[in-house]
Amino acid sequence: MSDDAIHKVRLNEHEDFSSTQSFGQRIVTPVRFSTDPRDIGWVRQNIPCQTACPADTNVPAYIRMIIEKRYGRSYELNRMANVLPGVLGRICSRPCEDKCRHGWPGNGEPVAICHLKRSAADHRSAGHRITENLYEPTGKRVAVVGAGPAGLAAAHDLTTLGHDVTMFEKEERPGGMLAYGIPEFRLPRDILEMEVHNAIRLGVDLKTGVGVGTGKDDVRIASLLRDHDAVLLTTGCMAALSLPLRNVERGRDIATEVADAENGLDFLMELHRGETKVVGKRVAVVGAGFTALDCARVALRLGAADVTIHIRTTEEYIPVTKEEIHEAKREGVKIHGLRTPVELLLDGGGKLTGVKFVQNRLGGWREGGRRQAIPIEGSEFDEPCDTLLIAIGQKTVNDILDVQVDLDRWGNVRLAEDGMTSVPGLFSAGDFVKGPTTVVEAVGHGREIAIKTDTWLMGRERRKKVVKITPVPEPLRERSFDFIPRQDVPTLPVNTRFDGLADEVETGYDDELAFEEAKRCYLCYHKYEIDVDNCIYCRACIEVAPRNCIKLVDGVEIKDNGTYGSLHEASEWDKVGAIWVDNNECIRCGACYMVCPTKCISITKNEIFHQDL
Ligand SMILES: Cc1cc2nc3c(=O)[nH]c(=O)nc-3n(C[C@H](O)[C@H](O)[C@H](O)COP(=O)(O)OP(=O)(O)OC[C@H]3O[C@@H](n4cnc5c(N)ncnc54)[C@H](O)[C@@H]3O)c2cc1C
Ligand code: SF4
Ligand code: SF4
Ligand code: SF4
Repeated sequence: MSDDAIHKVRLNEHEDFSSTQSFGQRIVTPVRFSTDPRDIGWVRQNIPCQTACPADTNVPAYIRMIIEKRYGRSYELNRMANVLPGVLGRICSRPCEDKCRHGWPGNGEPVAICHLKRSAADHRSAGHRITENLYEPTGKRVAVVGAGPAGLAAAHDLTTLGHDVTMFEKEERPGGMLAYGIPEFRLPRDILEMEVHNAIRLGVDLKTGVGVGTGKDDVRIASLLRDHDAVLLTTGCMAALSLPLRNVERGRDIATEVADAENGLDFLMELHRGETKVVGKRVAVVGAGFTALDCARVALRLGAADVTIHIRTTEEYIPVTKEEIHEAKREGVKIHGLRTPVELLLDGGGKLTGVKFVQNRLGGWREGGRRQAIPIEGSEFDEPCDTLLIAIGQKTVNDILDVQVDLDRWGNVRLAEDGMTSVPGLFSAGDFVKGPTTVVEAVGHGREIAIKTDTWLMGRERRKKVVKITPVPEPLRERSFDFIPRQDVPTLPVNTRFDGLADEVETGYDDELAFEEAKRCYLCYHKYEIDVDNCIYCRACIEVAPRNCIKLVDGVEIKDNGTYGSLHEASEWDKVGAIWVDNNECIRCGACYMVCPTKCISITKNEIFHQDL
């Protein structure tokens, strides 16, 4: 288009085109299911929260259901991806929120995706019944070892796929770290029990108090392999890493030798098995993760007056949510950064009196994205304490293996592409494969390996991923929603939290807060598209757009896998080949759709589903 043409469009900009264009009929396509890589690629590129979620949760869809106050449907949409929505709505590590488009520069804070997940679970009606997609019985028998999140997710999916599942759990209760690691004030046990029940109620034969391994009373993996068509190991990371100290010989674990020094993982597990735990007045916790934070907050509730977490780097590198750190600090936990313990301080009777630390400075980045801490020579100092809780990490327990399984250099199980270990019929999932991760990663991996196990058992894939594309009749957002701030989740007043371990600290959104927060979501599964054949390049949409979201382009990059890449913006009118919505910028305000005189802008909803083959 020439410069003159641009001028003409500008002259006409106040005309009411909609009354003069006879071709202004909106094209409404019927619902369709697509396996086109461009459609799958579009979802992956443009719904960053879903792509970041290890369980592939359809986040915008469940948030939209909250706006419509259809909490039961919102819960169902969550449950299609993970069997523990009420649990994860409380304690998820929230990788989705780190990627949420609302948190991108200039857009404000991420949507509170996790608190909204909890709202769906909290506010669904008491009469809401869960639906399941069930397959015919296959006659195949599968043993799942370990009833943590990975095992529960896998057992549920394998049962719905028609297999006969038996689950072996060495503890008295299922749930893994959800039941024995995470304290009740973060995860009420009635919520956990209800969701565990729903995960296994379709016929999983759960045998608790039954260990699998090489011990005297343990069931052997070899015998499980003989009696089942497939075996899935999901035994997590059950051993605490021991603290290397210079006055403790290598290989010895001070936590088992010095009274008042204990591994944080054992401390929490024993507490949750019902043992009475006692701490001193001054408690030092060494480590920077979920276990360290939980130990510190439990210690306060057990009566400690002074609780300090000591970390090698700084607070910003603690891999738990900001809200959890905030709540721990409000409760009185102190976090001291840039220090590494080097020596245990003991009195003449061998009783713990404190810990000697060396001061660190921050270094570069380590492999895996962690920050280095470099000790400063001559900077040692003593910190007195009565109880030391060590929470520097966990590892797998491999002496349960009575069959020869290939392990990687960290001692984690190595899996082939088909999800199988080096032993035919033996699969594995969750932290036992990946090392210590998170609940949502364990759930996502459990699902993935369940599907791979099913494919191996049945000799073929039984489901494929499709994109369901549904026309949306009108914009579902308003520009004003962009100015709603992120809603804080209400919590118990700090002075009422210490009466025991059971009072849940976060009380969750009420109906109104959930509605306000849900409105903030850009509904990234909505795709705004311009039909270039009917566009008259009047630029009305560009004029009303709140940001640089509609672009005149001379081309669009098509990647090797068929998905769309970057847009080549046209610098001159005669180079314009198309007008394109830049989905990185689009916040689904609907302004362009409302103003377009030829009605050539359409909206579709794009969702990943699993279809039977
Ligand atoms: C204190 C603590 C707090 C945490 N907080 C969070 C959090 O807030 N958010 C988050 O996302 N992640 C958190 N995590 C991490 C998270 O809990 C784990 O990543 C997750 O539970 C791993 O799931 P999994 O199913 O692989 O293993 P696990 O949950 O460890 O479950 C393994 C199961 O196998 C059983 N088992 C083990 N050995 C045997 C055997 N030989 N025979 C039979 N059964 C066996 C165990 O008893 C257990 O039930 C926390 C971890 C800890 C320790
Ligand atoms: S705005 Fe909504 S759909 Fe978009 S990334 Fe954030 S939570 Fe997901
Ligand atoms: S809906 Fe249209 S105007 Fe609004 S942000 Fe998206 S492309 Fe821009
Ligand atoms: S898409 Fe934009 S430029 Fe094209 S006709 Fe509609 S409003 Fe005008």
